[in-house]
Amino acid sequence: MSRHTSLRVGGPAEVFVTPENVEDLETLVKWSWDRGLSYLIIGRGTNLLVKDNGIHGIAIKLTKCLKKIDQADTNTGGVMVTAMAGVNLKTLCSYALKQGLEGMNFALGIPGTVGGGIIMNAGTSHGSMENVLNSIDVLLPTGDTRRIKKEALNFAYRKLSWNPELTDGHRDQTVILDGRFFLCPSDPEALKRMAREIIRTRKQGQPIGWPSAGCFFKNPASGKTAGQLIEMAGLKGKSFGGAEISSKHANFFINRHNASATDFLALIDLAEKVVLEKFNVH
Ligand SMILES: Cc1cc2nc3c(=O)[nH]c(=O)nc-3n(C[C@H](O)[C@H](O)[C@H](O)COP(=O)(O)OP(=O)(O)OC[C@H]3O[C@@H](n4cnc5c(N)ncnc54)[C@H](O)[C@@H]3O)c2cc1C
Repeated sequence: MSRHTSLRVGGPAEVFVTPENVEDLETLVKWSWDRGLSYLIIGRGTNLLVKDNGIHGIAIKLTKCLKKIDQADTNTGGVMVTAMAGVNLKTLCSYALKQGLEGMNFALGIPGTVGGGIIMNAGTSHGSMENVLNSIDVLLPTGDTRRIKKEALNFAYRKLSWNPELTDGHRDQTVILDGRFFLCPSDPEALKRMAREIIRTRKQGQPIGWPSAGCFFKNPASGKTAGQLIEMAGLKGKSFGGAEISSKHANFFINRHNASATDFLALIDLAEKVVLEKFNVH
């Protein structure tokens, strides 16, 4: 899996499939479920730490199918953009910018897919999926599909959930097929200026060019950020095997040199222990 994760670590999946189209995906998901085989849906693997012994079951990568973006006007002056789960967030942001649609700039620089972004409620200080998502279509392991509207979605910090009854009790095995994003026509030049500024600021603060999974720890509900706590604990630059806590941004753990997942787990353990000891923060 090291070829399919941004951290560049992880042993093999027992089975690895990249469906070519949505029909193949539906068939595979139902086939696996009917036989009691577990599967893990992956997008671009930018929020995954796969262990060195790999993935038990089937890894299903969605980046070849579910690639379309469509739009329709609404009667409230906004535009409903439907982006399928395998679309890169970057592509969706560029699409919105080209169409002069406001709302997606918050996601500029987040490197995953639309599906991964939705399930993680991906976001930045400029906003999150919660601000623009109107509804999602999901595929159940039984092969049925459902639409879940925004009112039924629970958005939390980097986490999306819903009442499992809406998906017949299925949660982890439910596949996000697409999301509908409510965006507003705006001044294209102003949007592009804002986009350039957001990208510039991101590049300044992050260790660009090193394999990572973005920020490793969620920020505490209040007080210092996770990065500030790790930095104050004196852990910037600390390494274990080939994994290192970035000296540019302490919440970025980077693969400096052929790291293993075990190296990253040891570093995570160290950061958790030291921050708990020094600041009593979990
Ligand atoms: C350099 C860098 C910077 C980052 N910056 C940010 C940031 O600013 N803000 C932020 O929020 N995140 C950030 N991230 C983290 C990551 O990019 C996001 O969480 C992203 O949304 C994950 O998308 P993905 O396609 O890579 O998901 P993956 O890593 O492939 O999967 C993540 C999880 O989502 C599930 N999943 C993926 N697709 C689907 C689907 N279609 N249906 C059901 N489940 C699915 C997977 O099973 C897994 O549990 C950053 C990562 C990196 C490497």
